[in-house]
Amino acid sequence: MKVLVINCGSSSLKYQLIDSDSEGVLASGLCERIGIDGSLTYKPEGGEKVKKDLDMPTHNEAIKYVLDALTDGSSGVIKDLSEIGAVGHRIVHGGEKFTSSVIIDDEVIKAIEECNDLAPLHNPANLIGVRTCQKLMPNVPMVAVFDTAFHQTMPKKAYMYGLPYEYYEKYKVRRYGFHGTSHDFVSHRAAELLGKNYEDLKIIVAHLGNGASISAVKEGKCVDTSMGLTPLEGLVMGTRSGDIDPSIMEFIAGKENLDIAGVMNVLNKKSGVAGLSELSSDFRDLEEGADSGNEKARLAMEVFAYRVAKYIGSYVAALNGVDVIAFTAGIGENAPTIRKMVMEYLGYLGISINEAENGKRGEDLTISTPDSKVTVMVIPTNEELSIARQTVALV
Ligand code: ADP
Repeated sequence: MKVLVINCGSSSLKYQLIDSDSEGVLASGLCERIGIDGSLTYKPEGGEKVKKDLDMPTHNEAIKYVLDALTDGSSGVIKDLSEIGAVGHRIVHGGEKFTSSVIIDDEVIKAIEECNDLAPLHNPANLIGVRTCQKLMPNVPMVAVFDTAFHQTMPKKAYMYGLPYEYYEKYKVRRYGFHGTSHDFVSHRAAELLGKNYEDLKIIVAHLGNGASISAVKEGKCVDTSMGLTPLEGLVMGTRSGDIDPSIMEFIAGKENLDIAGVMNVLNKKSGVAGLSELSSDFRDLEEGADSGNEKARLAMEVFAYRVAKYIGSYVAALNGVDVIAFTAGIGENAPTIRKMVMEYLGYLGISINEAENGKRGEDLTISTPDSKVTVMVIPTNEELSIARQTVALV
């Protein structure tokens, strides 16, 4: 079956058409600057990537252009839309309602809308994608795959904050966690690569991209994760602060004359390694900066790696041991220096690293030595493939 995977942001739309039998990507690309001006990037399998500026006042036009590109007489990869068997939509927040992926119907849409409050920037954009696809492909089944679903197995002691209980009852304030599709995919892939039962392994997944989070899996279930009510909590990220003393918010608001929205903007967009380094959120720039003597760039990398190591240490306690640590996403897959910096804190676990293997990037790797007490792996994540698999399983 051919599955169209759609990931709709507020002004962007990423897509992939996946053949679920071969699991190959038939075409992929993105629409950017929707509602501003608009551009479409399209890359057919084995073909050249093309980028066109196109007028995209809404997601409606964006999805139309994507479908036109897929069915184009010369560079298209399908003859007509009837070849698309299903559409898988990435939905950011499923609250407590969704513990797994579901086929989309009117009730599901209503339930997703009820979670809008928890992800006001993402869920409405995700739903625009759903509605537009429904309009343009009325007979094609659609599936919602939630970023939060994988983490719904966390025990209450892990997801409750030390806040008045009534905020949980009234507003559902609790830890949800994100990147669930990636944590799910990578932890299962780790077990598969090791030839072991998923349920028998204690696994820590470090998803280190521009947004970064860690999760702990035991007896086949996620038991903790570092992101919280929103993706702001946990690790120091590209531009997000991660954990801070909450009192800093009031302190900075007073000093800088900011309101709550202003402070949130700083914590989400101007902090993390970008804020610390005063250079970039991208680890390629930070590594280059650090190599040429930029002290703040080096510090940003050190703060990042130290926070990752501290979270791994705390999850070893939560799991009462660990069998596998798996690195994934942009930094986890491509930055051997960061992996090494993190692992240097974890010698006490009996971890030893094969430097030559750690030097590689972008493929499934075991970077620990055979006598290491914990297996350390690098596993490229593939959220689109995971969404396609879950879509096929449901339809
Ligand atoms: P997201 O999906 O959250 O936007 P990604 O998982 O794509 O993020 O990760 C993007 C980040 O990965 C970049 O900002 C950069 O910091 C890092 N990255 C990508 N390639 C490399 C590389 N070759 N070396 C170091 N870091 C890299």
